[in-house]
Amino acid sequence: MQFPKLNLHIHSNYSDGKQTIWQIVEKSIKLELNYIAITDHFTNSWKAWVSTLNNNETISAYLDEISNCQLYLANNNINLMVLKGIEVDLASSEQFIKKSVQIDKFDLILFEYLQSYESIAFIENIIYYWKNQMNDPIRFPVLGLAHFDPSYFITSDLDTLMKFLKKHIIYFEFNPSYPSFYSPRYERFFEKLRDYQIPVAIGCDSHNLRTLDNFEEPLEMIEYYNLERNFEILINILDLKKKGKHKLAI
Ligand SMILES: [Zn+2]
Repeated sequence: MQFPKLNLHIHSNYSDGKQTIWQIVEKSIKLELNYIAITDHFTNSWKAWVSTLNNNETISAYLDEISNCQLYLANNNINLMVLKGIEVDLASSEQFIKKSVQIDKFDLILFEYLQSYESIAFIENIIYYWKNQMNDPIRFPVLGLAHFDPSYFITSDLDTLMKFLKKHIIYFEFNPSYPSFYSPRYERFFEKLRDYQIPVAIGCDSHNLRTLDNFEEPLEMIEYYNLERNFEILINILDLKKKGKHKLAI
């Protein structure tokens, strides 16, 4: 099956990535990628020693830089969608997330470290807050789980987790930097993703240009678990967003 080339988890030098946003976009054009997301870190937890998008000036410079790339791609008719993403550490404080992440400015929100049922309540609370601010399902950002580790949930009630993902259309990411998270010992988890038709994506967690198209293994795993339909659902969501943007531009 022929799938578009997609990497929805890339870090630039706005956090702990090696390259600038322009370098990422240039290289993605050369590699003929179809969809990428720049998803720099956002946290005020104990992990905040990593350079992050931790203040409004940095966030707006970051978003402006991605906007310039989007404009360049549109003006040159290049078939590459670049999403404005952010990777939100769930150990950040709720107030900090609500204050700093202006939801109408982003195309994609990745949540990292969903490791407990308490975190589900934490995310839901924030999603409802954002939905109150922007109730447009096309413009509302795509939501995903960064390098989700099924081991925290595999021995308990997976249905609660699946219903949560389904309700808010939150995708699972195949991330080749964490291959143990898609190991066959989690087969039951992947069966549930299939049953519930939860979207799945590929995010390489790229911190340098060499890993931008590191999606051979994730694609194999999508086929191995028969999740092609789930991947298509994700691509349809991205295409709807693309069309919505065109409409806004006209
Ligand atoms: Zn990351």
